[in-house]
Amino acid sequence: MEIKEIKASSIISKSGIPGADFVINPYVGCSHACIYCYARFMKRFTGHAEPWGTFVDAKINAPELIPKNTDKFKGKSIYISSVTDAYMPIEEKYRLTRRILENLIPLQPNLSIQTKSDLVLRDMDLLKQFKNVEVGFTITTLDESLRNEIEPFASPSINRLNALKQFKAAGFRTFVFIGPIMPYLTKWKDILENTSRYTDHYLIDQLNPYAAVWGSVMAWLRQKYPNMVEDYLNLNNYWSNLGQEIVSYCKKERLNAWVLFG
Ligand code: SF4
Repeated sequence: MEIKEIKASSIISKSGIPGADFVINPYVGCSHACIYCYARFMKRFTGHAEPWGTFVDAKINAPELIPKNTDKFKGKSIYISSVTDAYMPIEEKYRLTRRILENLIPLQPNLSIQTKSDLVLRDMDLLKQFKNVEVGFTITTLDESLRNEIEPFASPSINRLNALKQFKAAGFRTFVFIGPIMPYLTKWKDILENTSRYTDHYLIDQLNPYAAVWGSVMAWLRQKYPNMVEDYLNLNNYWSNLGQEIVSYCKKERLNAWVLFG
């Protein structure tokens, strides 16, 4: 893993993500190295030629870039984080996310944190100081051997599940992002059944059709599940059928879910 310290010129960016006014990414790159990562396009903008998942730049001045004495973010939503995971293992050393949170508390934005790491538990004390906050975990599978293949350096799913339970027990609003669904592999019903008692709402998404994502997933599939390659190349009605199936299941089970495809 190539780790570099860099200085950023700004840290709170306007967001193009539905439901988020602003976004904070304390790092460039992501050591979780998910095979389906959509954020690999960031390589183009950050001058990195290395394979995605093998480099991280720590924006060491990020906490100091949070403005003081402003109402600009009060009532506005800030999402952490969109093109990295703010709780990668490197965060234990740099504590950038933690120090960013400390500096955000006086600004009281509506905060939404999403991660694949149980390291977020470390910051529960700070997160409690936001009046409007939600904590979300991405869970793509509960099968640890599959998780290990597709999200090799993220926390085991069971750790995320336990962290989710702890945030719910502490009174937080929580969400689970089931995504991307890996066709024929993601047991989405199992995830819903195992998380519904601790989750206020769900976001459920399909595998990103972006070319670089697709190339990475297909390379993995050819190696691990060659018999599924044909199925992945013929997903014509798969997403619309699956989307409908998930929507009716969630309706029946009274789950608050936003299915982003189908
Ligand atoms: S955790 Fe998110 S940003 Fe990091 S590699 Fe995985 S999908 Fe990409």
